[in-house]
Amino acid sequence: MTGPARVKTQKAHTPIHPAIKTVFVLTIVFTPIFLFFLIISDAFSIKKGFYAGRVLTGPLTSKREAKKGDTLSSILNELKVPEQDIGLVVKEISSFHDLRNVSVGDSVRVTRISGDIKKIDYQNDALSGVSVFRADTGWVSEKFEIPSVVGQTVANGVIETSLYEAGISAGIDPKIVMELSDIFAWDVDFATDIRKGDTFSILYETVYADDTPVRSGNILGAEVVNDGERYVAVYYKDKSGRADYYDLDGRTLRRSLLKSPLRYRRISSYFTGRRFHPILKRYRPHHGIDYAAPSGTPVEAAGEGRVAFSGWKSGYGNFILVNHNSIYATGYGHLRGIKKGIRPGRHVSQGEVIGYVGSTGISTGPHLHYEVRKRGSLVNPLSIKAEPRKKLGGNDLMAFMALKEGVLARLSQKNTVVAMKEDRGAATR
Ligand SMILES: [Zn+2]
Repeated sequence: MTGPARVKTQKAHTPIHPAIKTVFVLTIVFTPIFLFFLIISDAFSIKKGFYAGRVLTGPLTSKREAKKGDTLSSILNELKVPEQDIGLVVKEISSFHDLRNVSVGDSVRVTRISGDIKKIDYQNDALSGVSVFRADTGWVSEKFEIPSVVGQTVANGVIETSLYEAGISAGIDPKIVMELSDIFAWDVDFATDIRKGDTFSILYETVYADDTPVRSGNILGAEVVNDGERYVAVYYKDKSGRADYYDLDGRTLRRSLLKSPLRYRRISSYFTGRRFHPILKRYRPHHGIDYAAPSGTPVEAAGEGRVAFSGWKSGYGNFILVNHNSIYATGYGHLRGIKKGIRPGRHVSQGEVIGYVGSTGISTGPHLHYEVRKRGSLVNPLSIKAEPRKKLGGNDLMAFMALKEGVLARLSQKNTVVAMKEDRGAATR
């Protein structure tokens, strides 16, 4: 029975005069109502102004986007630019831009005041174009640039079937999805390692012009949880200006061998135009790995090196062997074809296409036989612990550690725009 007594004591310590109480209640009730009407009246006045500007006094613009087969002349003709002006306008614009390449999506905007054409804008890029004005002496032209800002966007999702589909349904630019798979290509094979329920989170730059997103920039940070294992990548440009992705300790994600010679990006583009379904199967019937993949899927060199063998090799069918250093070599078998120029002695870089999946030699169906040799003997490609990765040092490491905290904090947010800054060319590659 101590409860009520305590309440009584509290009341005694905070006496409120009834008049003050009334004023307080009235303030609480009427302030929101007042603010509501203030906002409503403001919104109406903006709307009225907008309509007044458009209908009564403003210039009229008509706009058209280029479709396949369009020329600038045909577009100007459709926008009812008089025949005698079209040639002159095209000539002006072509002094800035090669008009043999009018691309799908380029736009033309004609501005008229009281029916007279005052300006024609030709925009061939999300952020720039050419304006042509009618002056007393004829047509004059100048380049224009649209001011832009760079925002940071966080997107995350759970993978049901494939990274690509999860990325697209989270509203992410396909280019960013492919870059994400490239960033982790040394650790995660997105074609075969992905499990239902794996998650990803990406922080990337989005360039906005007039509040409209026009393109994606760099991925600044990413996290993938694959089969319970967490992988993190943070973008960092070191003091010498070299940009790369690092793990939480400041070690580069690069290794001497990719996780798989069938890279997600290549597989995805191979599937484009067919039914998109880049989920491959991986088997380990022996010391190598067999990847069941459609015939023709491009095969990459898992690491930089020199071709030691390319050609027919009995049961292997068309086979390529690449020496990476004095310790490791990788072999690729049953190829439908070997890429032109991939001959013994030829240098190959990591990720370079060297051949195509097939079913040559002793093979029951299209698949890639992949093997890793360590000092000449076959080892399990999945168990290779490559040499220690390079770690940032000194001032770079300190700067990286500070940057990392901000990136991790943003990555933990849900799909949102998390920051905006003026575009200083950060997102141009
Ligand atoms: Zn095999």
